[in-house]
Amino acid sequence: MNGANDNSGATENNGQHGVWEERWHPLREEWVIVAAHRQHRPWNGGTIAHQHHQVPDYVEDCYLCPGNLRIGGARNPQYLETFVFDNDHPSVALHAPSKLPIPAGLFCNRPAQGIARVVCYSPRHNLSLAELGTAQIANLLGTWQEQYRDLGGRQEIKHVLVFENKGEVVGVSNPHPHCQIYATNFVFKTIENEVNAGRRYRGETGRVLFQEILKAEREDGRRIISENDSAIAFVPYFARYAYEVFVAPKATHPSLATLSSKELTDFGSLLRETLIRFDNLWSMPFPYVMPLHQAPTDGGDYDDFHFHIEFHPPLRKPDLLKYLAGPEIGGGNFLSDTAPEEKAEELRAQSTAHYLHANKVAP
Ligand SMILES: [Zn+2]
Ligand SMILES: [Zn+2]
Repeated sequence: MNGANDNSGATENNGQHGVWEERWHPLREEWVIVAAHRQHRPWNGGTIAHQHHQVPDYVEDCYLCPGNLRIGGARNPQYLETFVFDNDHPSVALHAPSKLPIPAGLFCNRPAQGIARVVCYSPRHNLSLAELGTAQIANLLGTWQEQYRDLGGRQEIKHVLVFENKGEVVGVSNPHPHCQIYATNFVFKTIENEVNAGRRYRGETGRVLFQEILKAEREDGRRIISENDSAIAFVPYFARYAYEVFVAPKATHPSLATLSSKELTDFGSLLRETLIRFDNLWSMPFPYVMPLHQAPTDGGDYDDFHFHIEFHPPLRKPDLLKYLAGPEIGGGNFLSDTAPEEKAEELRAQSTAHYLHANKVAP
């Protein structure tokens, strides 16, 4: 039934059933407590009933649909593929206030300068990233490449963070498929951690950290969801979220921008498969936070930085959120209630044909 349970590594641990241990997160350089031995039952494959209330192709008052007026007064063009525009409510902007109040004592501030953009994946209001066809995913990857080059090439931009928040549980009520870009005058903390961890590891061992992670994942094999010639998708050994998945090219590229066309195709195909497996898991649109982890663009040496996409899904079950509480918010380390090996097994068992379109041929 459950492949992970057939494997001794995931079963017996201090006489307990399940995994009960601390695992080192080498990219964050912190411990994750895996306490998957408590009242734990693997997901039985059932799904709760979800109303698929018919979402139309086009919605008149959606600020992302083609031809519609946005809050800032601009009108969207009749776009046919991806569409990029500057966020009408930016959290960082080049015109952010530059004359700031001087704070007391050691407190310190500076202008919130940067560029915030929105990328619509498709003109169709009701088509999630998981439902995009191979060609549309390829087109989106091309747009992400262009944006990284364009924004990252600017003197004032030190880092380009591309991310998608999907689902109402992560605060997104508009289903129109889109992601956001924060191009900032600083490097986001997680990327800074990954850069520093990689440098430290290289200094101590002479090896590339992310390559060693891939090597160990392949050596073990239980958490790999799928792979092809040049890309791989896996639940990392040190996953903090139940269905956390990394999708990465096998070769080290500091960003998406330097992937060859073959690598881009392979990467897109695994990305698409991963998204479909997520949706198929509970036959529902699967919520997540999906950041692209790419090297900073501040002129530093990032040859060792290994571009990857991370999925941080907030749900442990269809109706059960992973609450961030004492350990996570209070202490800063994650407590994971599930064994990454089991979660990878569940995802691997999913079909790669989307449940809503299983009978149709992929466009
Ligand atoms: Zn729309
Ligand atoms: Zn990362």
